[in-house]
Amino acid sequence: MTIFTSRRRFIEITPFAGMALLAACSPKSEPAAAVTNSAPPAPLGPAPVPKPALAVTTAVLPMVDEKDAQARSLGYVEDATKADTAKFKNYVPGSECSNCALYQGKVGETAGPCPLFAGKNVAAKGWCMSWAKKA
Ligand code: SF4
Repeated sequence: MTIFTSRRRFIEITPFAGMALLAACSPKSEPAAAVTNSAPPAPLGPAPVPKPALAVTTAVLPMVDEKDAQARSLGYVEDATKADTAKFKNYVPGSECSNCALYQGKVGETAGPCPLFAGKNVAAKGWCMSWAKKA
């Protein structure tokens, strides 16, 4: 009787022991966050190089109009040889914007900025009464 009881008990607990063994050996489930994250992992290697910014171009400024009130008051002309020498006695032959201390244009350019006319370009061959010899 004792053996029968032991066999009976063995048969009773064997399925549960098998299920427990299967549960212990089965792979663990992924955490919820990892399951929902479907983005591919970042590639290994050097960090990506950002694209260079577009080259900054110099803005083309409008030209000073000789008829502007400020231009007229300063005697500005686009052609220095046409300066009103009767009115502006300080005119020096050969003086022009390109050899003026205030001229900000580059050598060889036909026009460039001048602080007396903010936001505009003066002609390299121009002139006004504020001309000062470039050092
Ligand atoms: Fe030209 Fe010089 Fe007069 Fe400016 S200050 S308009 S650069 S002559």
